[in-house]
Amino acid sequence: MDVTIVIDEESRHVINNNKLCTALKRIGVKFIPVSHKDLEKVFVSLEDMGFFEDIKPSKYRVFMDTEELLYKNWPTPLVRLKNLSSSDRTIWAKLEGFNPWSMSVKDRIGWYMYREAIEKLGKDRVSLLVEATSTNTGLAIAAMSAINKSKLKAFVPSTVSKTGEILLKIFGAEVIRSPKLLTVELINDVEEIAKKEGAIHLNQFYNDANFEVHLRYTAKELELQIREAGIKPKAIVGGLGTSGHISAISFYFKNRFKGVKIYGVVPAPSTSIQGIRRVETGMKWIHFVELDNIIEITPEEAIEGVLEIVRNEGIFVGLSSGAVYTAFKKMVKDERLGEGDYILIFPDIGFKYVEQISRSIDKE
Ligand code: PLP
Repeated sequence: MDVTIVIDEESRHVINNNKLCTALKRIGVKFIPVSHKDLEKVFVSLEDMGFFEDIKPSKYRVFMDTEELLYKNWPTPLVRLKNLSSSDRTIWAKLEGFNPWSMSVKDRIGWYMYREAIEKLGKDRVSLLVEATSTNTGLAIAAMSAINKSKLKAFVPSTVSKTGEILLKIFGAEVIRSPKLLTVELINDVEEIAKKEGAIHLNQFYNDANFEVHLRYTAKELELQIREAGIKPKAIVGGLGTSGHISAISFYFKNRFKGVKIYGVVPAPSTSIQGIRRVETGMKWIHFVELDNIIEITPEEAIEGVLEIVRNEGIFVGLSSGAVYTAFKKMVKDERLGEGDYILIFPDIGFKYVEQISRSIDKE
């Protein structure tokens, strides 16, 4: 990568590439190559810049606290789905349910947004938090609140399951249920309450720390994993909620892997699948990146996907993971996806959704 940052010899200030310099720092490089004015640009590898150094799992899995248990345990597993793969297509699943708090991809953003708030405002100011959530982000922020001795008021839409509400309460959050159907519809009310009560609203839907943590860790660690396994991804499939994780993955992989396709998954019109939602309900980062297709899945298809995964591979993933798997199967058929390696991002575990899934089981 050609990233020489040029500095002015007298003032010692950076005179070009200021934005690149900031961006590189934010996604975790340890060193930035600097040259003096008029010197030739040099090629510096990402390894030399310490680009991958923030992903260093604890070798013997000993952690100093439950916050380290999150970020020093990354990467989350990337596993070949042996029985669901075919002779020409290999399916790899990234299991975000292996995150320790909410058992979902949302631990990453809960941790990062919270840490950034402490850095900006100081720990004392971050004592009461309010957030609109469909469970997982609320659990992650509640975990950070427990670790940092603060309090969370979680605002959930009517569509959130009883299990979700109970889990939030178990984690110590106060739960306020709204008659509205979508989490994103609660943001304005939550913002008002934050102002009135002097609370911190991290706001997963607009906070760029959401996109950034996935760029800095989720996407980067996935690259390390596929390098290690010798995988050349043909496509990556993931669900769209805030659009944080799949937008960051798209941005990263489209820039670094030529020809890789990225697919987003949403619920079919007038249906709901916990954790994902339709693009027209408003998403931020998806509009800055390229997606190759958006696939619509019904809740029934999502459940069928979950059952097919658990009954072939013995791993019980959540409804949005089932939706991602079914979407992949549709893409294989509709776009005649050829041979190669495919990566599916599975956002959480299935144990949270037994209520919904049991209704299908009863019909079998
Ligand atoms: N799946 C589940 C279970 C989720 O909880 C979420 C987000 O809430 C997503 C998918 C979507 O992730 P993102 O918000 O990064 O688009």
